Amino acid sequence: LESTLAILKPDLLADPRQVTQVENEIQRRFRVSQRKQVFWATKEAEEFYQEHHGKLFFNRLVGYMTSGPLIALALTGPHVISEWRLLMGQTRPPQMRVLKPETLRAKFGLTDTRNSFHGSDSVASARRELDFFFGSGSYD
Ligand code: ATP
Ligand code: MG
Repeated sequence: LESTLAILKPDLLADPRQVTQVENEIQRRFRVSQRKQVFWATKEAEEFYQEHHGKLFFNRLVGYMTSGPLIALALTGPHVISEWRLLMGQTRPPQMRVLKPETLRAKFGLTDTRNSFHGSDSVASARRELDFFFGSGSYD
């Protein structure tokens, strides 16, 4: 059994109907073991995305992720890390609208930065990211 961190990003939360629609779909497919709405300060966004420090899109990413509230979800289940990433689709929504129109980023994402969702990319990052939001051991 695995757990992963899913984030519903600020552009999605701008429309409460989108949040309801997405959370209903998530609950149909996965067990949600934790849920938290937060509004990040700059230093929290910089810490969470430390692996991207120095990249061209880093400041845009931090600005976006501090532009409004977000919802963090701990999802638990067999293969949930890859299952959630498959449901989200890859980083770029315009590309996903062509290649994988059924994915959440294709349906809801706006731009390469404002792509509506996050999902942990490995067991190790899932543990780090879940600890960041929920504290160690409190999410499965
Ligand atoms: P993965 O972790 O599988 O590589 P990801 O979608 O999490 O994919 P990252 O590369 O980890 O993407 O980047 C984190 C976030 O930074 C993205 O979800 C997106 O919001 C933003 N981002 C990534 N690449 C770009 C880019 N080229 N231009 C603008 N924003 C980007
Ligand atoms: Mg990533």
